Amino acid sequence: MTINILTILPEMFAPLQSSIIGRAVKDGSITINIINIRDFSDKKHHNTDDYPFGGGAGMLMMPQPIFDAFSSIKEPGTRIYMSPKGRVLNDSLARELAECENITILCGHYEGVDQRVIDNLIDMELSVGDYVLTGGEMPAMIVVDAVSRYVGGVLGSMESAHGDSFGDGLLEYPQYTRPADYKGMKVPQVLLDGNHALINKWRREQQLLLTKKMRPDLLESAELSQKDREFLLRLEENEE
Ligand code: SAM
Repeated sequence: MTINILTILPEMFAPLQSSIIGRAVKDGSITINIINIRDFSDKKHHNTDDYPFGGGAGMLMMPQPIFDAFSSIKEPGTRIYMSPKGRVLNDSLARELAECENITILCGHYEGVDQRVIDNLIDMELSVGDYVLTGGEMPAMIVVDAVSRYVGGVLGSMESAHGDSFGDGLLEYPQYTRPADYKGMKVPQVLLDGNHALINKWRREQQLLLTKKMRPDLLESAELSQKDREFLLRLEENEE
């Protein structure tokens, strides 16, 4: 998969050289092209922003450098603008985007970008949550990370996405590692007994318990078995 990122701050993307994403880039599972929008400005000082027509606070990113930066990309694929007004990123959208051969992400700054950019160049406005950040670079990195996890070869066997939160519509069960007893805080006995049927049952019940407590909205769309439903019903009866 190739991810093109259009930004006025290419230096902000250094974190993508580290850890799992850095390794995926090195081994060719994903290609990340960072494109500096300033390089395409036809202004003497490579400006990329100007005052908004009609007045108001702040500056807006001008169309010319962005249109020209887009034109330089041979295969942009799905063109995304990071924006608090957009569809909010979630796990199923990350999986969908991971199916794309190419995506291109535009990072806004200041008050955002000229509307003609959005109307003519963008397929999808994408938000990372209902709050406003100072620029689209961190949101873009979140998209790169969330999407790349679902690109084949990016996660090694040690980091499988299987069983992570949202993977099956529920939150992940609690996990523990050594020691089994840390200063009197003990790991649940079922995880130490080696009975895998009981471990799986415990984990599933913990997923249901945790999801009900932390994100009950997820239960409405999760695929639940008859046993899951019975367990949730028992929980409700115990609460009454
Ligand atoms: N004036 C814009 C508004 O009220 O919708 C906010 C602009 S924001 C200060 C600057 C840039 O940060 C945006 O163009 C966008 O690229 C990025 N940004 C800010 N919050 C974001 C969010 N929640 N999700 C995705 N991108 C965001």
